[in-house]
Amino acid sequence: MNDRNILAPPPFSISCQNCGDRISTSHWSWRHACGGTLRLDVAVDTARVEACRTGTCSRLDRFGPVLPLQHTPPTAIGDTPLLMEELSGVRIVFKLEHLNPGGSFKDRGAYVTVARCAELGFDSIVVDSSGNAGVAIALMALYLGIKVDVFLPRSTLSGKKQLLRTLGAVLHEVDGNRMRVHEEALACAATGPAYAGHWWNPYFAHGVKTIAYEVAGQIPHIDSVFAPVGAGTLLLGLHTGYLELLAAGAVTVMPRLVAVQAAGFSPVAAELGVFRHAGMVSRLADGIAITDPPRKHQIATAVNESGGLGTVVNDEEIEAAVRWLLARGYVVEPTSAVPVAGLMRCIADGRIRAGETVLIPLTGTGMKVLDELAKIRSRAARQ
Ligand SMILES: [Zn+2]
Repeated sequence: MNDRNILAPPPFSISCQNCGDRISTSHWSWRHACGGTLRLDVAVDTARVEACRTGTCSRLDRFGPVLPLQHTPPTAIGDTPLLMEELSGVRIVFKLEHLNPGGSFKDRGAYVTVARCAELGFDSIVVDSSGNAGVAIALMALYLGIKVDVFLPRSTLSGKKQLLRTLGAVLHEVDGNRMRVHEEALACAATGPAYAGHWWNPYFAHGVKTIAYEVAGQIPHIDSVFAPVGAGTLLLGLHTGYLELLAAGAVTVMPRLVAVQAAGFSPVAAELGVFRHAGMVSRLADGIAITDPPRKHQIATAVNESGGLGTVVNDEEIEAAVRWLLARGYVVEPTSAVPVAGLMRCIADGRIRAGETVLIPLTGTGMKVLDELAKIRSRAARQ
């Protein structure tokens, strides 16, 4: 029994963030004709937020009343646990997103993205990702019986390629940089499939926003959220979720959004006036190694509007955070340690103080990068 029997699917609209044009929601669009990124707004009210809490569905499908979908297929994604830790008197709320079926928070965005493609009649989609997003999209596409073509750099780790093939994805290995991979994916999409890359498509954030809904159901007051920022899908998803919860009266304050970037990949921090570790380049934070994300202005605006801040961490700080997490039993990828490193920096700077409550989603499992974690451990042992 789906709660959609009680509430009709929510109305939603899509508009261009560059020129403001409204576009049709009945066709798949990932970018406006003017080149602008798209914004998707769902009409959420108190009754819809309440229906998510009291419905009979579980996990992500219980958010049907606030998702831009006609139907929410049953799923094992979502309802990840919260665990509390303490650091210098700061209460950390970890949301264990690495325990999602595909091993990352991106399962949530993939759920809405692929389900919408299916509703619009696509039997084939294209993405360009070698990381967690590719796995998340492939997993959901397999579940819904949709063919997925994944474009990735030839240099991608063999273990990741093997996992994508195991999930039924057709791999296209591209010689060249990330932009070249993107162009090849778009050329393929021009032949008919939906292009579902998570940097651009506006549905993705509405899957990710369910993290805020789940946290608010257990801990209504969060002072700050620390998120690793590459393309910004996590931070923008949380922002979307908290804006909807505020409008519906389910929370009373927007947490301060803290964008934590890695050295060498910090265009959002630069927009926020932060230039830590200039000249250094992180090798560890591969999940957020993006030099020019399409939504960087939108991310910086969300951070500013929340009263938040940006910061940048280097590999030394990330390694320290990985070891801190491993010592507490969190086997997560180095990118997931980036916000922990950012929090350590902000505590040292006095920008986060004892007594505050900080939410940190642990974004991705360490099980996909065990070699990297082993190297970090062995470097620590030699020191
Ligand atoms: Zn436009």
